[in-house]
Amino acid sequence: MSSCIFCDIVNKKIPSDIILENDALVAFHDIRPKAPVHVLIVPKKHVASVNEFTKEDVPVIAALMFAVPVVAEAVGVKDGYKIAFNVGRKGGQLIDHVHMHLLAWPDSPEGKKEVAPV
Ligand code: AMP
Ligand code: ZN
Repeated sequence: MSSCIFCDIVNKKIPSDIILENDALVAFHDIRPKAPVHVLIVPKKHVASVNEFTKEDVPVIAALMFAVPVVAEAVGVKDGYKIAFNVGRKGGQLIDHVHMHLLAWPDSPEGKKEVAPV
């Protein structure tokens, strides 16, 4: 790959507002939030999209999923949130380094009824 903004965040070449970091991933606040709480959970390994995951990546996928409640707790939204992957341009993916969106509307008592485009 040539240059990748999320690899640059993983490698601390560009700054981000990190919530959680471990051996497998970093989670940080989205710079242009599409919801009151909008976090990106990004594996340290560069994989272009969900379509490119292989069996070798099972530990990475597991790490992403296990990070979800930890991140949700850290940002105070464990009682309700959405998680989403955009896949490919037609799926809204703009950055070709796989990432999970975690979105929440903590001040909306009934939660968000519609799936927001992210
Ligand atoms: P996607 O459209 O699924 O590829 O999502 C990419 C997301 O990355 C968007 O929600 C952007 O706002 C977000 N983003 C882009 N650059 C940065 C950055 N430097 N720090 C944090 N979030 C970013
Ligand atoms: Zn990358």
